[in-house]
Amino acid sequence: MTTPRLLNKICIITGSAQGIGLATALKFAAEGATVIVCDVKQAGVDEAVAQCQALGATAEGFVMDVTQRPVVDAVVASVKAKYGRIDVLVNNAGITQDSSLKKMTIEQFDRVIDVNLRGVFHCSQAIADIMVAQGSGVILNASSIVGLYGNFGQTNYAATKFGVIGFTKTWSRELGPKGVRVNAVAPGFITTPMVAAMPEKVLADLSAKVHMRRLGKPEEIANLYAFLASDEASYINGEVIEVSGGISL
Ligand code: NAD
Repeated sequence: MTTPRLLNKICIITGSAQGIGLATALKFAAEGATVIVCDVKQAGVDEAVAQCQALGATAEGFVMDVTQRPVVDAVVASVKAKYGRIDVLVNNAGITQDSSLKKMTIEQFDRVIDVNLRGVFHCSQAIADIMVAQGSGVILNASSIVGLYGNFGQTNYAATKFGVIGFTKTWSRELGPKGVRVNAVAPGFITTPMVAAMPEKVLADLSAKVHMRRLGKPEEIANLYAFLASDEASYINGEVIEVSGGISL
């Protein structure tokens, strides 16, 4: 039998009550990780924790809004106090509030920046010192193909997804020498509640553009997170890996 790839690793996954985050929590649980589920609603957190535990994993949940720095600091302190270390942070929490440049409100712009960019900064800054003191750790950031190529109606979202690539490149330089790897994943269009909100016609057109003629599954992103979080990826640092079925070809 092969050893699970994340055995005994303490892994925090933000936005892990649904979609890609939940799939990642379940994949990490199956790979032997201790999974720390963080999301904004208690019921979703409890359900995700129960699903991880049903796979035999140690799992614990926190209601944690990534925009609230004191809450993030308290969760990080609690995890560190209980488990003694933090091995992996997956900065998955993210939102969309789409509008054309002409129509986008300041509120839409600010909210998406707050969650997708400032939230990633909060969690990473709160945890990086712990990883540096350990001499090891992995930070994984959720970018998007929209963070590589832009997208109509996503001024705010594209800025954040380009932004987390900037974080990734910068932190891989700053933290790499201290044993902490930082990488980003750039999914294409994945069938989660976020994408289900898009009109059916738009989804059909998107599928047609993918060179596999289908959208992606959350598990197909979770698989890459698990690999990047594991020691098998020990020499991968500062990369942005697209998982899109080749939509950009
Ligand atoms: P989703 O909307 O299905 O799930 C996002 C989760 O994040 C939800 O559980 C939500 O409650 C949580 N969340 C939202 N705001 C939060 C906050 N302030 N603090 C903590 N948690 C918060 O989204 P998804 O499709 O699973 O996307 C996950 C990540 O992957 C996002 O960063 C998204 O931008 C990125 N992504 C998704 C796709 C896609 O096609 N689905 C493509 C590229 C990138």
